[in-house]
Amino acid sequence: MKFKANSSIPISDIKINDKFWNKYRDLVGKVIIPYQWDVLNDRLEDVETSHCIENFKIAAGLSTGKFQGAVFQDTDLTKWLESVGFYISAYGHDEMIEKIADEAIDLIAKAQQDDGYIDTYFIINCPDKRWKNLCEGHELYTAGHLMEAAVAYYEATGKKKILDVACRLADLLCKTFGTGEDQCHGYPGHPEVEVGLVKLYRTTGEKKYLELAKYFIDIRGVGDNYFLWEEKQKDYIRIFPEFSDYDPSYSQSHKSVREQTTAEGHAVRAAYLYSAMADIAAEYNDKELLEACETLWDDMVHRRMYITGGIGSSGWLERFTTDYDLPNDCNYSESCASIALAMFGKRMGELTHNAAYFDEVERALYNTVLAGIAMDGKSFFYVNPLETWPDACVDHTSRGHVKSERQKWFGCACCPPNIARTLASLGQYVLSADEDTVYINMYVSSETSLCLNGHDATLTIDSEAPWNGKARISLAAKYEAGYKIALRIPAYAKNFDIKCGGKEASGKIVDGYYILAIEDTAAELSVTFDMPAIFVHSNPKVRADSGKTALVKGPLVYCLEETDNGNNLSAIFVDSSQSIKEYYDASLLGGSCKLSFNGYKLSENDWDIHTLYGQRQNQLVPVSLTAIPYCYWGNREKNKEMLVWMKERL
Ligand SMILES: [Zn+2]
Repeated sequence: MKFKANSSIPISDIKINDKFWNKYRDLVGKVIIPYQWDVLNDRLEDVETSHCIENFKIAAGLSTGKFQGAVFQDTDLTKWLESVGFYISAYGHDEMIEKIADEAIDLIAKAQQDDGYIDTYFIINCPDKRWKNLCEGHELYTAGHLMEAAVAYYEATGKKKILDVACRLADLLCKTFGTGEDQCHGYPGHPEVEVGLVKLYRTTGEKKYLELAKYFIDIRGVGDNYFLWEEKQKDYIRIFPEFSDYDPSYSQSHKSVREQTTAEGHAVRAAYLYSAMADIAAEYNDKELLEACETLWDDMVHRRMYITGGIGSSGWLERFTTDYDLPNDCNYSESCASIALAMFGKRMGELTHNAAYFDEVERALYNTVLAGIAMDGKSFFYVNPLETWPDACVDHTSRGHVKSERQKWFGCACCPPNIARTLASLGQYVLSADEDTVYINMYVSSETSLCLNGHDATLTIDSEAPWNGKARISLAAKYEAGYKIALRIPAYAKNFDIKCGGKEASGKIVDGYYILAIEDTAAELSVTFDMPAIFVHSNPKVRADSGKTALVKGPLVYCLEETDNGNNLSAIFVDSSQSIKEYYDASLLGGSCKLSFNGYKLSENDWDIHTLYGQRQNQLVPVSLTAIPYCYWGNREKNKEMLVWMKERL
C-alpha cells in the first residue's frame, strides 16, 4: 500500500475547457455566485429569505434584531466564499466577484469575537451556551466550513484576512477540545471541522490543527456516548425536537470509527466523517483507519447507494436504513450527500490509486450533483428522487419532501452553495499526481500544469465524454524526466484501447489504471473505448427495482420524462434485449445524447373512475419511448413525471 498524504493538484493548475462542463463553469461565475450573493443579502423578493448576511451584521454589532434561519445558517456564506475562492483559482481573477467577497470577509472578521469564536447563532442567541450542545448546535460544522472557505480564498488570492480569522478560530478549538482535564471531551454532532482542520494544517503547516482533527476522529463513539451524556446536563437546550429520542448511529457515534462496518445515520454526516477518516489515515499512515474506510465505502456503494450516486434512502432524517433498501419515489438522496460521497471517493482514490473509486465519484457528479441544479443556475433540488409523480408529492405526507420542481432557495439551504463549490472545483476530481505519475481520473477536456520528478510539464486532455469514449492526451515536458501517465479504465468502458504516437501502447494495468511510462519529452496518446447505451438491472435484493431495468450510457443514468413519453410512466414496460438508438440533439439543454427505444404501456380502456379493482386482462399497447440524461430532468416543463427504473416485460 502506497501512502501519500495529498496527491491533489492545485485547482489553479487545472484549466477546464470541456464541451459538456463549460456550461456549468460559465454558470458558476456569471449566474450562481452573483445570484447566491443576492439571496444571502435578501435582495430577491420572490425567493425564500436567507437572513445569512443579516445574522453576521447583527453579530458584528452593525445591525440589530434576532437570529433567523437554521442553526448552521453561517455556512451558506462560507460555502459561497469557498466557491468564490475555487472559481478565482480555476478561472482567473474576477474583480467584481473578489470585491464582494472581500466585503463578506470584512463582515465575517467583524463578527468574530475577541477570543476567536465565531458562530452567529450562538453569538446572537445564547453566548453562554457555547459548546454545550455539540450534538445539535453545529458550531464545529460551521467552523469547518469557515476553514475550508478561508483556505480556498487565501490560495486563490493570497489575501490572508480570512485565513487569519480561521486560524484564530482553530486556535480557540485547540484550546477548548482535547483530552486535558480542563478541556471539553466532545466532538462534532455533524462532522466537517475535521476536513477543515486538515486543509488548514496543509496550508499553514500548523501541526496542532491536524492533531485536533485526529483527536475528533479518535474519540468519536468511544466509551459512553458523549451526546447522550450531554443532553442530560442541566443547561442543555434542545434545538431539533426530532432528536428527543437520540440514536447515536445518526451521527456515527454509536461505536468508535475504526469498529464501524456499515454506513449508518445521516448520509451527509457519514460521508463527511469518512472523508476526514481518509485524510487522517493518509496523514498518519494509519492502516487500520484506511481499512475502516474501505469497509465503509464497500457497504455504502455496493449495498446502500442509488444508481445515480444518491445516498441516504430514508425520507425521514435524511439517513441510511439497511442494505438494499433503495425506494425510488420517497427517498432523500440529498444533493450534499452525493457531494460528500465524491469527496470521500476522491480521497480514497488518491490514497490507494485504485481507479474504481472514481467510477463512483463520476456517478455522483454526473448524475445526482448535476441534477441538483437547474440549467439556469438559479433553482435547486435538495432531495433527488428516481421517480416522481408530482400530484402525490403532497405537503405533510410521507412524500412531502419530494419536489418535482427545483426550488429557488430553501429555509435550510445547505445544498445550493455546496453544489456551487463543487462545480467551481471540478478540477480536483479530474486529475491527481504523485512525484512521477499523473493520474487521469475523469476524461474532462483540460490543460494542466504539472511538476513531475521536479520538472514542469503540461498535460492536455481533449475528450468527447460523456457522449463518446474518445480522448486525445498530450504531455509535454522540458526534460526527459522519466514519468508515467495513469489512465483510468472506467468500469463501463468496453474495448479500451490506447495508442501512443499512433502505435499500440505497451503499458500495464494496475488497479483499474492503464499505466504508461513516457521516456521522451513529449507524448501523444489516443484513448478509445466503447460505451454504448445499455439496459442494466439491480441486485435482486433491491426490492424497489425488482423486475425493473434502467438505462445507462457511460457515467450517465437516463430517465423517462412525461414531456417525451406521456403520463403514468409506471405503466410502461420495456424489453431489455432490444437495441437502443442513440442520437445527439443539439437543441436539448445545450446539446445532449438522447436514447430512443420501444416499449409497451398498459391500456386504461377497460377502466373508469368508478372502478378501482376488477378482474381484467392486462392489455399492453406498443409505444415509442425517449430517454434523456437524469441530470437534465425537470428542466423543460415543471412538475411533470420522471422515471429511472422501468418495469421489464419478461
Ligand atoms: Zn444539502
